[in-house]
Amino acid sequence: MTHLDVAALAARLPAGPRTRYAPSPTGYLHLGHVANAVMVWGLARLLGGRVLLRLETHDQVRCRPEYVAAALEDLAWLGFEPDEGPVDQHDATPYADALAALRRLGLVYACTCSRRDWATGSTGAPRYTGCCRDAGLAEATGRTLRLRVMPQAEAFTDARGAVVQQDAAAGGDVILRDRDGLWSYHLAVTADDIRQQIDLVIRGADLIEATGVQVQLARNLGRPVPPAYVHHALVTGSDGRKLSKSNRDTGVRDMRAGGASAAEVIGRAAYAAGLSGNADAIAARAVARLFETRAAAPHAVARILS
Ligand SMILES: [Zn+2]
Repeated sequence: MTHLDVAALAARLPAGPRTRYAPSPTGYLHLGHVANAVMVWGLARLLGGRVLLRLETHDQVRCRPEYVAAALEDLAWLGFEPDEGPVDQHDATPYADALAALRRLGLVYACTCSRRDWATGSTGAPRYTGCCRDAGLAEATGRTLRLRVMPQAEAFTDARGAVVQQDAAAGGDVILRDRDGLWSYHLAVTADDIRQQIDLVIRGADLIEATGVQVQLARNLGRPVPPAYVHHALVTGSDGRKLSKSNRDTGVRDMRAGGASAAEVIGRAAYAAGLSGNADAIAARAVARLFETRAAAPHAVARILS
């Protein structure tokens, strides 16, 4: 773990940087989402930046309208007000355009494999072996479309400084559109971060493995210089695992129903994520304070993946 150096981060960003808060409404918000909001709004306010609220609805099977409504209501109750948005991902045009651009570069291929055909990659996660890469299969309904990922190092800046991910292809050729016609996280988030001119991506450490391939994807879509990244520690449950949306004792709605105030929920999230040395209540409008008092309060430091 290293501490977040806000001055160094600011030096790598344009004035008034744009960041985004981008939950996927496939469930109700929990402490992990609140911790991410503390990071996003806290850093945006400290850096004089703007927050775009983007609902990541690219998975239109798992995203449900009631979760969208609940996320908006919970954020309003917590007091996290975006400067722009909400926007969502229902309009397929930007993703279809991105796919067409990649196809013109010869980077898209159709795949008929199932997960049975996967191998276990270097990270221990299942890795697509690329068996359809050179098969020349026609794009057709019911076929997955994949990105031809180049096995090369990709560089980006994170809160801890310059990062070089040695093999962007370590996770295999990622999906762009699945067999059901749903746009992938990689394609949707990369296309949106480009067109929405996002300078700073603040997200959980579980996504750092996806960053190299997204940097490569963005370059192929016309963004030569990637955004700056902050990958922060995840809030884990008592079993040490990442919180799930079904984890009831850490759900925003459940804590609210149990009588907690918005400031108390935010305080718990900040503490659970290592952003504060205590779980004292803190209002959404005051969270920038957690990042500017580090020198005075040595425990109040952001836990950043290193
Ligand atoms: Zn295949």
